[in-house]
Amino acid sequence: MSKGRILSGMRPTGRLHVGHLVGVLDNWIKFQDEYDCYFMIADWHALTTKYDQTEDIKDNIRELVIDWISAGIDPEKSVIFLQSDVKEDAELHLLFSMITSVSRLERVPTYKEQIEELGLGNSVPYGLLGYPVLQAADILLYKGDTVPVGKDQLPHLELTREIGRRFNYLYEEIFPEPEPKLTKVPKLLGTDGRKMSKSYGNAIFLADSKDEVEEKVKQMVTDPQRIRLKDPGDPDVCSVYNFHTIFNESEKTDELAEGCRNAGIGCMNCKGNLRDVLVDELAEIRAKRKELEKNPERIDEILAAGAKKAKKVAQATMKEVRSAMNL
Ligand code: SF4
Repeated sequence: MSKGRILSGMRPTGRLHVGHLVGVLDNWIKFQDEYDCYFMIADWHALTTKYDQTEDIKDNIRELVIDWISAGIDPEKSVIFLQSDVKEDAELHLLFSMITSVSRLERVPTYKEQIEELGLGNSVPYGLLGYPVLQAADILLYKGDTVPVGKDQLPHLELTREIGRRFNYLYEEIFPEPEPKLTKVPKLLGTDGRKMSKSYGNAIFLADSKDEVEEKVKQMVTDPQRIRLKDPGDPDVCSVYNFHTIFNESEKTDELAEGCRNAGIGCMNCKGNLRDVLVDELAEIRAKRKELEKNPERIDEILAAGAKKAKKVAQATMKEVRSAMNL
């Protein structure tokens, strides 16, 4: 029986943090053995919101590949490629845009949210509206039949399924209807208790040195009611404890929670334990990063090999598409 094919990607917008590790990469690593995996660096998608900030894009692409591989994405098992290396994606996007209505795109829930968030008012770029059409092309070009998604991305995938169905109905049965693979995303907050984000300055990055991790853990926000050692604390409102629940062993986590509640452990000790766990967790990634940073040609080789494999599939799909559309 042939394996299902997973298509997933990330935009190259900066260094990855531990939230990406536990929320996305850990899942991808598991998928590598079960599926035929295509992992795409979505550089065109990065332009939908950052079209005027392209000076860092090349560096961000390299950093992203380094982060992926250091975390355990294996180029021998998975196809790692750059979206813009496969121009067939742009062609399919154009053709899909002919069969997709503007009103349908305006109904994608995240569209309105994004306009508001970015304060775009009446000056919404055409590319932002068409973003889900490009996403449909990304997935269907490779005939991805499985797409790992969080619940908030389900409407985008539904649109991909609709576009594929419409194409199949209008011309010829070519595309699969990709199924969502709902992934478990542990709720990891930032060091200050807010959502972890580079822009909030509350993230621990995969590329952080041991000293940086240590300093960030030291600065982490704890239960604000726990002022003295003898005050009992509430681990459920503490960002240090939130990290323990994700990175530490469950027995140790329970012991720390108990120690917090009965004032048997101090926050310094609790943080010290977390620091050791995190430094340990990131040690292998850091070592692999160093190796790759010393060998930039390796990144070029990985991207070139990925583009070659991705192109082969893309060209075969486009041949079918053009023939079905009499082009
Ligand atoms: S003991 Fe640990 S869990 Fe409790 S408030 Fe301090 S850092 Fe947070």
